[in-house]
Amino acid sequence: MNKNILTEKFTTAFQTAPFSKIATTDFLPAFILGIKNAKAEIDAIIDNPEAPTFENTIEALDFSGEQLDRISSIFFNLNSAETNEDIQKIAQEVSPLLSEFGNDITLNQDLFKRVKAVYNSKADLKLTTEQETLLDKKYKSFSRNGANLTEDKKQALREIDKELSKLKLKFGENVLAETNKFEMLITNEADLAGLPEGAKEAAKQLAESKEKEGWLITLDYPSYIPFMTYADNRELRKELALASGSKAFHNDALDNQDNVLQIATLRFKRANLLGYKTHAHFVLEERMAKTPEKVESFLNELLEKAKPAAQEEFTNLENFAKEQDGIDTLQKWDSGYYAEKLKQKLFNLDDEQLKPYFKLENVIEGAFTIANKLFGLQFEEIHTIDKYHEDVLTYKVNDENGELVSIFYADFFPRKGKRNGAWMTSYKSQSIKNGVNDRPHVSIVCNFTKPTNTKPSLLTFNEVTTLFHEFGHALHGMLANTTYPSLSGTSVFWDFVELPSQVLENWCFEKEALELFAKHYETGEVIPMELVEKIKESATFHEGMQTMRQISFGLLDMSWHAQDPSAITNVKAHEKEAFGDTQLFPDVAENCMSTAFSHIFQGGYSSGYYSYKWAEVLDADAFEYFKEEGIFNKTVATKFKENVLSKGGTENPMTLYKRFRGQEPKPEALLKRAGLIK
Ligand SMILES: [Zn+2]
Repeated sequence: MNKNILTEKFTTAFQTAPFSKIATTDFLPAFILGIKNAKAEIDAIIDNPEAPTFENTIEALDFSGEQLDRISSIFFNLNSAETNEDIQKIAQEVSPLLSEFGNDITLNQDLFKRVKAVYNSKADLKLTTEQETLLDKKYKSFSRNGANLTEDKKQALREIDKELSKLKLKFGENVLAETNKFEMLITNEADLAGLPEGAKEAAKQLAESKEKEGWLITLDYPSYIPFMTYADNRELRKELALASGSKAFHNDALDNQDNVLQIATLRFKRANLLGYKTHAHFVLEERMAKTPEKVESFLNELLEKAKPAAQEEFTNLENFAKEQDGIDTLQKWDSGYYAEKLKQKLFNLDDEQLKPYFKLENVIEGAFTIANKLFGLQFEEIHTIDKYHEDVLTYKVNDENGELVSIFYADFFPRKGKRNGAWMTSYKSQSIKNGVNDRPHVSIVCNFTKPTNTKPSLLTFNEVTTLFHEFGHALHGMLANTTYPSLSGTSVFWDFVELPSQVLENWCFEKEALELFAKHYETGEVIPMELVEKIKESATFHEGMQTMRQISFGLLDMSWHAQDPSAITNVKAHEKEAFGDTQLFPDVAENCMSTAFSHIFQGGYSSGYYSYKWAEVLDADAFEYFKEEGIFNKTVATKFKENVLSKGGTENPMTLYKRFRGQEPKPEALLKRAGLIK
């Protein structure tokens, strides 16, 4: 049999992934062998004749499957950044194998017996805090999946899970079908007045692709958003908004009202079976916020503080629309349109003005310099390691003493085979095994404007903050310094993971930081401060209204999941009640949010929508500390590194945060930054 490079020890520099030598056909056999080896490691734990100990069970479990993890990370990272039909086909084949393997572990009673034995003797074990966290995490990975239940209850849990996955799938299919079903064909060009040329052209092409005369507008965001933002025709905006707001709410075959009720009910039952009061209690057990009460008081406190500003913004917008077009009652379909007009009037700021100051190479250098000033990191581009595409940049990252911290990959430009958006990922996580600190291989992937023959890559301001955001995640991965791989780097509670990324964005708004890198690509002139001020002001434009909107979604989410839903019979009526006094625009009877709220009914955000705002509170509060002491203050940076960035998920995030900040996070810094309080 030929050797499969993926299952051999990598002999490359820094043991990085040997991309150039991997054939796509290597993956499937590598996965199969990787799973087989990982299973053998699990069996060895179970069959160990010695009594279960932390080392021979919990630790052994955490270090098992290393080979499979490496194969998986290489494969799935490629599937996101450099995929093709063959890779996609393998992904389809491999995904069920991996989830089956995952189930083989979490549903394995013999393994659980050993884990539980260690867990029950926890008090006598003299574990370190990190070990205690690991033990807790491992135990819960079984108990939260029903390992402690009797056979008939286990059976009931499986039934609920099966039913839930069907309902969630159906929910998503309905939303998608409703989105795809709607088309607004415009045949009179005058009805497109206000739309930018690009949006018009896209609408025309869309019509042509469906062999229609005219311009086609759909509910897909690239079509929907420009129309709602720019189209002068109020009636058509209304038509489009009603279609979008009433997805899966038409009492027909694609209606989701019943699915929503059933999903909420089954989640509640599931939580009860596992011993939790509600689904939200179940979810929040593994979050920084911890309890539904905490989330609700967090949202309500924020609401109280944001509301006056939101109302003022709303009144201003109302007056503006009245002045402009004699609008008497401002409706939801007016909001994006007049907001854009008002924003233009107030700031007159566009990307083209800013882009010359943000040449990609300068921005990267800027991020590196900032990481150096804060954390002493040194980035050196190297050409000795393999890449999966020639556009990828590779760096060696050292600390002040010249010790290796991480390998860093950066992949900036769009191409066929790369999915949209921007993300951070890793090819290898950090851990300490047998006294050796194995350093991580971290990567960021973005889709920025490519350079041309005559112009370098010039970033929009949004792209600049995106780069800093992903770089912040990357620092979390690079600076990891934990013993166990499953607690390393970004393996933290969900509502904590955006702190390092979002906090780093703050430097993009500071004069002291911008002077380092925001220089005109032709003249070298540093970005004028009045432009920076404008960026800041326009970034907080309508922040009060945005905050109210986010809070209303968070409250709606909690209303479905933090109580017994059996009394809810009418989805729309329930929703109106849940929104309470968060609504500035008149209610639209034809619309319903819940029936298309995919984040919480299809995706993984149930009882988690609050975390968007939660993360903002954290990052603003953390950055406030930097501002108090100086944005390059070494002491604050070191505290951040030692208590947050290097600690991964080894302790409860609130404990880590308090150790860094000296107190729990408070919303004041965010409210101030957002201009909601003075
Ligand atoms: Zn992020």
